[in-house]
Amino acid sequence: MSTSAVPHWINGHPTPGASGRTAPVYDPALGVETKRVALANEAEIEAAIASAHAAYPEWRDASLAKRTAVIFNFREILNARKGELAEIITSEHGKVVSDALGEISRGQEVVEFACGLNQMLKGDFTENASTGVDVYSIRQPLGVVGIISPFNFPAMVPLWFIPVALAAGNSVVLKPSEKDPSAAIWMAEALKEAGLPDGVFTVLQGDKLAVDGLLTHPHVKAISFVGSTPIAQYVYETGTKHGKRVQALGGAKNHMLVLPDADLDLVADSAVNAGFGSAGERCMAISVVVAVEPVADALIAKVVERMATLKIGDGRRNCDMGPLVTREHRDKVAGYIELADTDGATIVVDGRGINVDGDANGFWLGPTLIDNVPTTSRVYTEEIFGPVLSVVRVPSYEAGVKLINDGAFGNGTAIFTNDGGAARRFQNEIEVGMVGINVPIPVPVAYYSFGGFKSSIFGDTKAYGAEGVHFFTRSKTMTSRWLDPSHGGINLGFPQN
Ligand code: NAD
Repeated sequence: MSTSAVPHWINGHPTPGASGRTAPVYDPALGVETKRVALANEAEIEAAIASAHAAYPEWRDASLAKRTAVIFNFREILNARKGELAEIITSEHGKVVSDALGEISRGQEVVEFACGLNQMLKGDFTENASTGVDVYSIRQPLGVVGIISPFNFPAMVPLWFIPVALAAGNSVVLKPSEKDPSAAIWMAEALKEAGLPDGVFTVLQGDKLAVDGLLTHPHVKAISFVGSTPIAQYVYETGTKHGKRVQALGGAKNHMLVLPDADLDLVADSAVNAGFGSAGERCMAISVVVAVEPVADALIAKVVERMATLKIGDGRRNCDMGPLVTREHRDKVAGYIELADTDGATIVVDGRGINVDGDANGFWLGPTLIDNVPTTSRVYTEEIFGPVLSVVRVPSYEAGVKLINDGAFGNGTAIFTNDGGAARRFQNEIEVGMVGINVPIPVPVAYYSFGGFKSSIFGDTKAYGAEGVHFFTRSKTMTSRWLDPSHGGINLGFPQN
């Protein structure tokens, strides 16, 4: 199979890489390299940021009506042609097409939110704060902002930020994951078609060099990062050290607490959907079921029954779950199954060596269920990011909450129960940023904000919703007096009335 090149998108045009450095892009269901993505060098980083910087003043000064109209046009293109984007995502990430369409729809919610950003950008006005003095505030864009995104949602995660940043009047430089870089180029073309002026949206393909370029360049005013915790921490520390506003969302280990009174069929459906959807490569995937005894045996039986019905294979066929993103990642995830065995856990269902509806060379790993996972094992403490669901048995609600609160991450969690009082207590006591009550993947809708606690976020501002608008703008407050005939007189103190 011949490989094609994935370019940058600079100043409104696809721009082939000139650094001589590239990275492979695979079709995970076929297990072959299909493309090579450009990796930017210093000159390309400079050119990308310079073109975004040059385009900024005109876009900042464009009317809100014009800016939101472009976002609305983009929404129409997305709505009409999301199938094209989904196919690109499946061919590079591996997730099944229906799931790729799902991530686009979730991203589109933020696009729709940004169509009404006028409402969020309104300022305050106080007449006569002091005699004859009015005070008012406005929110203004920041300038060039950088977005650095992970492989697992090549459309949705960039769309958490792009529409809000653009509608607010910023120029955006997106550095997508080098594992699935083509969705970004599709979105760049669509934004241009929607009427976005050249240079306002840039795609800078690359690796650490490009990230460091964004983190240190004086023209870049803010960074939104999503990825693993160690890189998120690095991005936060480096970006803030260089005077930038940074929100860096990190990894996760999401627990589902199951109380004995829960509807076990709903729990089993939810555990399978949230554990194995997108092959577990979701930051909000459930990776640990915390079963309050005596519920574990009955629940495991129901989960196993459902796992047996899952069809694993090429995402372009009618399957439930696709391959993992790379061979290396598949092998790393499979290594955790081996480790679980060594650490004394019980492998209930082993996804290694499963039969698939797809090419034998694909990066396959089937759904795996591991019971009695010791909480000291790395299988429990580390983010696995694959189709591996662990079960930890606890004696009480209190023990379950303590376990979750003792964890390093705090992205998402869920409780399953029919007891409203227990659910209410859980929402109060749990130290996690996004909580589901009989809902396994509680990703907030676009007019709330997305983000966790602890090692799942660095910085105090979450993605999209009101917090996203706040992140991509800064407030300016004016105090004004228009002279009237009664003005005058010397007074060295603060105004009193
Ligand atoms: P990653 O951290 O490897 O990569 C994220 C981005 O950082 C990519 O653009 C990558 O090119 C860049 N990068 C990689 N190594 C770097 C380095 N040494 N220096 C600077 N930049 C570097 O993450 P990933 O594997 O692409 O994505 C999966 C991770 O993202 C998981 O940990 C998952 O939990 C997390 N994630 C979190 C959320 C959330 O909202 N909290 C959402 C999606 C994914």
